[in-house]
Amino acid sequence: MHKDPVCGRKMNPNKAHITIEYEGKTYYLCCPLCQAEFEKNPGKYVKKEKSGR
Ligand SMILES: [Zn+2]
Repeated sequence: MHKDPVCGRKMNPNKAHITIEYEGKTYYLCCPLCQAEFEKNPGKYVKKEKSGR
């Protein structure tokens, strides 16, 4: 299972709207809205995944 970094939904890669490669990692986006969000500000969502505080 993968996670949509924008909305946080767990996703089946086969059902993802689109996959985006960013800094060597592949991200799965569930819908065009999440895709647009991710492309607007990828750094924000990539950072969010590691919440190490
Ligand atoms: Zn989403």
